[in-house]
Amino acid sequence: MKAQKVIKAIKIQPEKCTGCRTCELYCAAYHATPRYSHANPAKARIRVFVDELNDVYLPIISGRYVAESECNIRYRVVIGGRDYDECTFCRAVCPSRKDFFDPDTGLPLLCDGCGEPMPEGGPMCVQACDQEALLYMPERVEEIEVPEVEEEEVEEL
Ligand code: SF4
Ligand code: SF4
Repeated sequence: MKAQKVIKAIKIQPEKCTGCRTCELYCAAYHATPRYSHANPAKARIRVFVDELNDVYLPIISGRYVAESECNIRYRVVIGGRDYDECTFCRAVCPSRKDFFDPDTGLPLLCDGCGEPMPEGGPMCVQACDQEALLYMPERVEEIEVPEVEEEEVEEL
């Protein structure tokens, strides 16, 4: 039997971000061991690029893990007439830089969408953001196979 499943994803609205970095703290605290025992933003799976002088703030959620060092793709990013380092806004967990590696263990910090089961109220970073710079919303609909439920046999008395 086929059914439709709504897939949700985090939408980033950078124009609403104030650079407060609360989302980093929520993410780090939720993934701490034991949970909520500490909140080190260096252990978050989201990091907020903050350029106060130019009023540029951008939350970046960690993406795929790249085992080999640097890729060959290089971008020139210009915002408001200012040049930014080509890797500044990259989501990859890449050995060419320290972003998204646990400072204690060196292990990659990959966004798990807060895992299964999802925290009550949705992903922690979204819950942290009172500016609505992060929204958890439907992205697409997928068709999935659902196993048929067999009717129970009822024994007659
Ligand atoms: S909590 Fe929201 S406003 Fe604050 S840094 Fe994160 S995304 Fe930006
Ligand atoms: S979805 Fe969860 S794991 Fe991913 S960045 Fe947000 S708080 Fe961290």
